[in-house]
Amino acid sequence: MDFFNYKGSDLYAEDVKLTEIAKQYNTPVYVYSKATLERHIAAFENSLKSKKHLVCFAVKSCSNLAVINLMAKLGTGFDVVSEGELRRVIAAGGDPHKVVFSGVGKTEHEIEYALSVGINCLNIESEEEIDTVIKVAKKLNVVAPVALRVNPGVDAKTHPYISTGLKNNKFGVSEEIAFDLYKRIAKEPCLKVSGIDCHIGSQMTSGLPIVEATDKILALYDKLKKEGINIDHINMGGGLGVTYYDETPPSPLEYFAPILERLKNEDVAIYIEPGRAMVANACVLLAKVVYQKNNGGKHFVITDTGMNDLIRPALYGSYMTIINTTKHEDGEEVVCDIVGPICESDDFLGKERKLNVKNGDILAVRGAGAYGSSMSSTYNTRRMPCEVMVDKDKTFEIRKRQTYEDIWKDESILN
Ligand SMILES: *Cc1c(COP(=O)(O)O)cnc(C)c1O
Repeated sequence: MDFFNYKGSDLYAEDVKLTEIAKQYNTPVYVYSKATLERHIAAFENSLKSKKHLVCFAVKSCSNLAVINLMAKLGTGFDVVSEGELRRVIAAGGDPHKVVFSGVGKTEHEIEYALSVGINCLNIESEEEIDTVIKVAKKLNVVAPVALRVNPGVDAKTHPYISTGLKNNKFGVSEEIAFDLYKRIAKEPCLKVSGIDCHIGSQMTSGLPIVEATDKILALYDKLKKEGINIDHINMGGGLGVTYYDETPPSPLEYFAPILERLKNEDVAIYIEPGRAMVANACVLLAKVVYQKNNGGKHFVITDTGMNDLIRPALYGSYMTIINTTKHEDGEEVVCDIVGPICESDDFLGKERKLNVKNGDILAVRGAGAYGSSMSSTYNTRRMPCEVMVDKDKTFEIRKRQTYEDIWKDESILN
């Protein structure tokens, strides 16, 4: 159940008709349901409540200030992967003491900024990064709280671009060297061993890979404990999948239960970094049908919404459910490709879908909240999409549509 449902022949977000939103704010527009976001936040908090925990929302999945602010008010922490994201969290009222910083390429400047605002933990991803953190911590005269991102060599069984826990990808350090690196960190007076971190991939629809990863992380935890190196928290990352079509991912409660079971006798907090599962299904992207045509026996529905607005289908070949916000009494369903106006053949929202559409209809792409607006661009000099949050019968414009001048305001011509 969510808060995007038909009443009669019209699709609603909570108590607001989506065609009305399209009329008022124009298209493309991302429409979030506040009640859905609140329900998801509560579900994650609730799933860990038997243990000391920190839910760190992965800001990269959806970075609008209003979304971050809503979470911050409900006590959520954040996982950031750049100085920009950390600044966003602070600008939105988030507490840096509840923020962890991930990423393979943190610069010295970013590390300095993070330590100066009191980051909860730096998730270190290489031996060289340890050196940089030491240098910055000495300069600032602080003790830097750190975790090592350990690559447990577990196959998340997901798309290769979002599978991050295998030995041969760029993330984290291997299990083999992690123990020695921890010994080194523990000896450094300006570093504090805070946690063990891992994140094995995204859109996982089975709970098995994360349990396998937990067992590997716990083996390291035990080994460190015997060495006298105590860990405050174990961070199992993000990655819980969502239903885009017919996937049946576990609930947060089901997903984390075996992990909590394994940690129940340990005096250690659990951190998680959910992105997608928190926001994907709390949002639809509205696209207007501009033209229809037949080419080579294929029916095309051409919309005003392209891969610059939503890149997931083009980038990952993702399936996203597309429905018409108006159900027609007349006309009939045809098999069609729903495409955008961009000059690339991979500019599509969906392929071989059955829809009954008329020109001017507003289509809703479901599950658009994660890696939707946050991955949008101005490619083809198209303005970044508008974003709206619905709260019962009210709408709030949480991101104005860019002006054209905004797009090129930082460019200049030679004189
Ligand atoms: C992207 C990312 C996440 C969030 O992943 P989801 O699949 O969106 O839950 C969490 N942690 C790290 C380190 C990430 O890179």
